[in-house]
Amino acid sequence: MTNEELMNEIIKLKEEKGYKILGHNYLIGDILDISDETGDSLALARKAMEMDADKIMFIGVDFMAETLKILNPEKRIFVPTRASECTMANSLDRETLIKFKEKYPNASVVLYVNSTAECKMEADCVCTSANAIEIVNNIDNDTILFGPDKNLASYVAEKTGKTIIPVPGDDGFCYVHDEFKKEEVLVAKEKYPNAKLITHPESPKEVRDLSEYIGGTGKMIKIPLTDDTKDYIIGTEAGMIHQLKKNHPDRNFYPLKNSAICIGMKKNTLKNLYEALKEDKHEIILSDEIMEKAVYSIENMFKVMG
Ligand code: SF4
Repeated sequence: MTNEELMNEIIKLKEEKGYKILGHNYLIGDILDISDETGDSLALARKAMEMDADKIMFIGVDFMAETLKILNPEKRIFVPTRASECTMANSLDRETLIKFKEKYPNASVVLYVNSTAECKMEADCVCTSANAIEIVNNIDNDTILFGPDKNLASYVAEKTGKTIIPVPGDDGFCYVHDEFKKEEVLVAKEKYPNAKLITHPESPKEVRDLSEYIGGTGKMIKIPLTDDTKDYIIGTEAGMIHQLKKNHPDRNFYPLKNSAICIGMKKNTLKNLYEALKEDKHEIILSDEIMEKAVYSIENMFKVMG
């Protein structure tokens, strides 16, 4: 089947079978265009909570599907493939986190939502890139174990002045963002002298320091609403350009690096989406222990956010 035929079949199948499709901002454009809702991982988990649907096909990476299931225990959550993994989330395992907790017994534990459900069971609170500073400031403790992203940890330390201990440490990073370099920013700024640079806080400090804006994908989409700049250089996964152009067709968005691709996200294809819908494949099932314990740290984040 051609892509267009596959897209038509997917729309037909999801309607026949009562699915809603939720797609993360980093997916290929064809999948985003047939998703019922698009957004960042937490926005999608919250949309799922409000949705009148028994079956959700979530398209993103593994930890996002787990979070969606934890927040929507009564709904059936499916994914197109089990191969869509987030290497950053999987860089921290529960045993390592427990060892850090034993070493720093007085520290509070804040985990980025990009973490496994098993690790979330060990956290006091979860955060997103958008609310990490607010969450850490809100915790009545000056020493925080923060993971898995070392770059977000350093950003939070900078902005809060608290003692932030990154877990697991140097091995915790997103390869898509960690590979951005200061030299690449300087070249891009020379090429587009009137453009503003928007980067993700998962980027290294030398790149963040040259940015006009720093924020996750949810914030990136909103920036052109309050800034009338015509040109932007975008320092995140290249798929985000599709979403930005769709939302702001009168502006220009240039990727900081065309090769900034999340391999895990791109394991989701129209073909495996079609097959998963057709055969009701790849349902997310989590243990009772995870469902009961991991929700605590996520709910704590919602309490802070109000
Ligand atoms: S872009 Fe990075 S943090 Fe996001 S899903 Fe991919 S590997 Fe994980």
